[in-house]
Amino acid sequence: MDNCLFCKIAAKQIPSSVVYEDDELMAFKDIHPAAPVHLLVIPKIHVPTLSECDASHTVLLGKMLALAPRLAAEHGCAVSYDADGVPAGGYKTLINTGPDGGQEVYHLHLHMYGGPRPWRGQR
Ligand code: 5GP
Ligand code: ZN
Repeated sequence: MDNCLFCKIAAKQIPSSVVYEDDELMAFKDIHPAAPVHLLVIPKIHVPTLSECDASHTVLLGKMLALAPRLAAEHGCAVSYDADGVPAGGYKTLINTGPDGGQEVYHLHLHMYGGPRPWRGQR
């Protein structure tokens, strides 16, 4: 897509802090982080929103979500358990979809928020 911000980031026409890349996906730091760790996972192909996805996107969507635990481990926010089994750490994954979903950039992306709370606007 000619005029898509995240297509331009995927093509490295616009710089970003890339934390992961393969043939299909890229992950980079959000320019306005809402948490100590705030990453965006995108497909390199242009898909405007989750609403355009169907069963043919199952593998791609699965790869996007399955990247989150790896990124979490690399960025210090994987879930861990103490000797009593009490969990610590963790992160939030989110896909905003369309105007009512709060989507601002119309290229499918998965937000990954992590790090010690409070986060911006959240406890
Ligand atoms: P949305 O509201 O569409 O789900 O989220 C879009 C996200 O993209 C926002 O969190 C915003 O901060 C981020 N963003 C917008 N422009 C840029 C940019 O040029 N570079 C990077 N790295 N993130 C961006
Ligand atoms: Zn795009």
